[in-house]
Amino acid sequence: MLRLEGVHAYYGRIHALKGVSLEVREGHICCLIGANGAGKSTTLMTISGITPIASGTVTYQGQPIHRVSPEEIVRRGIVQVPEGRRIFPNLTVQENLMLGAYLQRDKAEKLSALERSFSMFPILRERRRQPGGTLSGGEQQMLAIARALMGTPRLLLLDEPSLGLAPLIVERIMGIIRQIRDERGATILLVEQNAQAALDLSDYGYVIETGEVVLEDSARRLLEDPRVREAYLG
Ligand code: ATP
Repeated sequence: MLRLEGVHAYYGRIHALKGVSLEVREGHICCLIGANGAGKSTTLMTISGITPIASGTVTYQGQPIHRVSPEEIVRRGIVQVPEGRRIFPNLTVQENLMLGAYLQRDKAEKLSALERSFSMFPILRERRRQPGGTLSGGEQQMLAIARALMGTPRLLLLDEPSLGLAPLIVERIMGIIRQIRDERGATILLVEQNAQAALDLSDYGYVIETGEVVLEDSARRLLEDPRVREAYLG
């Protein structure tokens, strides 16, 4: 469904991605694990069309998308949940959700997407008139995910959904991600520093170090790999 081949990206003189190649198969949950600053977020940003690539290709459903605008990429079904949630704290939960459907013109469609969100996240229905900023960290992460689902993604990109959350809440969020794949049929690319949680959930994984993919395998095998265990699973 999605393929990166030899992707290089820079921030000024910083060579953030040094020839990243990876593939995400339709219906899979795939994860990209690695330390702080390894290039995980940058990889997602190149797929979303926000960070331009210097060379290489990004192909989605057989079409190159690395010169396509971020808005058109969303239109084609790739939606990103950014690191740190980035919800609007002063807007209500419902207003935050409606922003996720900005490409949808049909009001009835928007409302049915809202209804689907509320049935997946009953807590958001309860809190729909509250400002987003009053939610707990876990609820804000749910809101950020639900907002992305309002755009009915075919490929959902998640940047560190476990960041700053307690272990029980992380488990809950990971369960929700699995549910999105199973019930909505979305394909998922998940970026995580929490390698254990990400690999437990995923079908396939990539390990990235200083801008390069150094290891890839089924998540099950990565969990057993001594290099992964030593460096990422403590
Ligand atoms: P984190 O979990 O901290 O977000 P990451 O693996 O997602 O880490 P990236 O954010 O992709 O890593 O960063 C890759 C490299 O690019 C790092 O060296 C980082 O310092 C640098 N970098 C990221 N964003 C910028 C930016 N806006 N300007 C300059 N350098 C940046």
